[in-house]
Amino acid sequence: MFNSLTDRLTSTFRNLKGKGRLSEADIDATAREIRRALLDADVAVPAVRDFISHVKERALGAEVSEALNPGQQVVKIVNSELERILGGETRRLTLAKTPPTVIMLVGLQGAGKTTLAGKLSKHLKDQGHTPMLVAADLQRPNAVRQLEINGERAGVPVFAPHPGVSSEAEAPTGDPVQVSRDGIAEATRKQHDIVIVDTAGRTGVDAELMQQASDIRAAINPDEVLFVIDAMIGQDAVATAQAFNEGVGFTGVVLSKLDGDARGGAALSVVNVTGKPIMFASTGEQLNDFEVFHPDRMASRILDMGDVLSLIEQAEKSWDKDEAQKMAQKFVDQEDFTLDDFLNQMQQLKKMGSMKKMLMMMPGAAGMRQQLEQFDDSQIDRIEAIIRSMTPHERNAPKIINGSRRARIARGSGVHVSEVNGLLERFGQAQKMMKKMASGGGGMPGMPGMP
Ligand code: GDP
Repeated sequence: MFNSLTDRLTSTFRNLKGKGRLSEADIDATAREIRRALLDADVAVPAVRDFISHVKERALGAEVSEALNPGQQVVKIVNSELERILGGETRRLTLAKTPPTVIMLVGLQGAGKTTLAGKLSKHLKDQGHTPMLVAADLQRPNAVRQLEINGERAGVPVFAPHPGVSSEAEAPTGDPVQVSRDGIAEATRKQHDIVIVDTAGRTGVDAELMQQASDIRAAINPDEVLFVIDAMIGQDAVATAQAFNEGVGFTGVVLSKLDGDARGGAALSVVNVTGKPIMFASTGEQLNDFEVFHPDRMASRILDMGDVLSLIEQAEKSWDKDEAQKMAQKFVDQEDFTLDDFLNQMQQLKKMGSMKKMLMMMPGAAGMRQQLEQFDDSQIDRIEAIIRSMTPHERNAPKIINGSRRARIARGSGVHVSEVNGLLERFGQAQKMMKKMASGGGGMPGMPGMP
C-alpha cells in the first residue's frame, strides 16, 4: 500500500539529507515535490493544499532553522502533518452505556462491508465482547449467505431474515428496516453486548440507497455508523464519502482493500473532507486481515519508518502461547533446537498472515521492496515439505543426514538436493544462534534462519 507515494517522499527527503542549512528555495522545492507526489497519489486538492500550507509554514519557522539537522527536521514535520491529516489520535469505538452497542455499516456495493462485518466481529470477540451480526443487506443476492459464512468463520451468530435462504441467485425478500429492528431486539434478548448491522449498497451513489440507509439509521439509532470505503477507487473516494456523509451521515470510516495497490488518496483525503476519523483498515480477504487504524503508525509506514508496534500486535494475535512457552522453556533448559522446532516456528510465522505483509512493516522495508516482492510465501511450504520428508530421528539429530539421506529427502519432498542442503545450512546457523542467545541469557527465540 502507498508504495509509490512512499518512494516519492523518501526520494524527496534523500535530497535534503546532509544539507547544513535549508534556504527558502530548498523548502519551496521540497514542498512542490511533496505536493506533486500527493496529487499523483490521488489525494484530494483541498487536503493537499491544507497539508502543504502546514508543512511550509512549519518548515520556514524556527523548528527547522534552529535544528542541528534541518533535513531530518523537515521529515519530522511531514511525519507529524501526515499523522494530523490521517486524523491525529486513534479513535476507539464508542460503546453504549446500556448494551447493546449498535454499529451500522454503510457504503457502496463491493466496498467490503460484509467482509468487514466478519472481521470486526472477530476483533470484538477477541477483546471479550459478545457481538452478533445482523444481515440487513437484502439487495444483493447471496449477501445474507455471505454474512452467515463470515459469521461462522468468526464464531459469531448471525441474525438473518430468512434462515436457510441460501440460493445463490435469489435475493431474500423483506424490509431491511424491520430486519434491523428485529435483529437488535434479538440481540438484546440474548444479551449480546454489540450488534453489527450490515446494510445494502449499490454500485453507485443513488437517492434510493441513501434513503434506505437513512431510514435504517433513523429506526435503530446506532451508536456508530461506519462508512466502508474501497481505498482503491482513488479520486472517486472523496465524492462518495461526501455523498454518504450528507445522505446518511457517519461517525467513522473504514478503509478497505488497503492491501491492494491503493495509492493512498482515500486515506489522506477522507478525514480532511468529511471531518470524520478513520477507525479501522481492512487489508485482505482473510478474517485476520484487519487493523485498528492508528494515524501515527500509518504516517510512519508511509514514510518507510516502519510500524513495529503493529508487527508485534499481529504476532501476539497469532502466536500460539503454549508453543511459545514450550520454546522458551527449551531455551532456558538449553535443550537442542531441532528441526521440529524449526518447522514449528515456520508454521507460527505462517499463521501470522502473509509474510510479505509483515516484512513490509519493518523500518526501511520500502527500500527492499523488490527483494521482498520476490519473496514468496510458498518458500515456507517447501521448507515444510522438506522437513516432513525427514524421519523423526533425522529431525532430532540433523547431523546424521548424510548424502544419501539428503537425496532421499529431496526425492520425497519433490525439491532439488541443493534446496535440502540450503535448508540444513540455514538450520545450522539458526541452531548456533539459539545456542548463543541461550548462553548469553535474555533475548527471545526469534525467527532464526528465515529464508
Ligand atoms: P460489500 O458489497 O460491501 O458487502 O463487499 P464485500 O464484503 O462483499 O466485498 C467485495 C469483494 O471485495 C469481495 O470479493 C471481498 O473478498 C473483497 N474484499 C473485501 N475486503 C477486502 C480487502 O481488505 N482486501 C481485498 N484484497 N479484498 C477485499
